[in-house]
Amino acid sequence: MLGEMTTAREKPSRRMCAGCGQRAAADELERLVVGPSAPFVAVDLGRRLGGRGVSVHPTRRCVRSATVRGGLRRALRGVAQIEPESVERMIVAQLEQRIVGLLSSAWRRRRLALGGEAVRAALQANLGDLLIRAEDSRGRGEELVRAARALGCATATWGTKASLGDAFGRSELGVLLLTDRGIARAVLDCLSHIETLSEDG
Ligand SMILES: [Zn+2]
Repeated sequence: MLGEMTTAREKPSRRMCAGCGQRAAADELERLVVGPSAPFVAVDLGRRLGGRGVSVHPTRRCVRSATVRGGLRRALRGVAQIEPESVERMIVAQLEQRIVGLLSSAWRRRRLALGGEAVRAALQANLGDLLIRAEDSRGRGEELVRAARALGCATATWGTKASLGDAFGRSELGVLLLTDRGIARAVLDCLSHIETLSEDG
């Protein structure tokens, strides 16, 4: 992972969420950068963009209150009016991009099994920290999910056969299995934020 180097003695930098007003470690918040022209708001993955920044928890509640009456609205005053839904969509797109990056890094480290045969072989070898099944995968996908759960491996549904395939230069991919606990946890983290941002209410 690229990022700022910190030692155990240094406290991670803390920021205030523009929605709920709570302070949190910078890596628990998304940094949004406000600019003078369309699209006016960008998600600052990796915290490298300059410009006026606003941090927010990646939850629907915090994004809404930051956009409707909180820090994001203040930062955008006189510049533009942005709907909470479009900020949510931007953050979801960024989280999805982050998942693809995490999966690619697992692939480079040979910590990822792609496709039914490879996933089955890994599960038979008692390997697996997270099985991801495409939303439109059927039959064999279900069977592998059951096998993974029986081994205590986490499972999630994300993307489509086409979108998963696209990330790895294949036409379709129905199932993949991460065999790296740290990467699996980071992917689950992104997926839970996506789920929170997609919930109604
Ligand atoms: Zn918050």
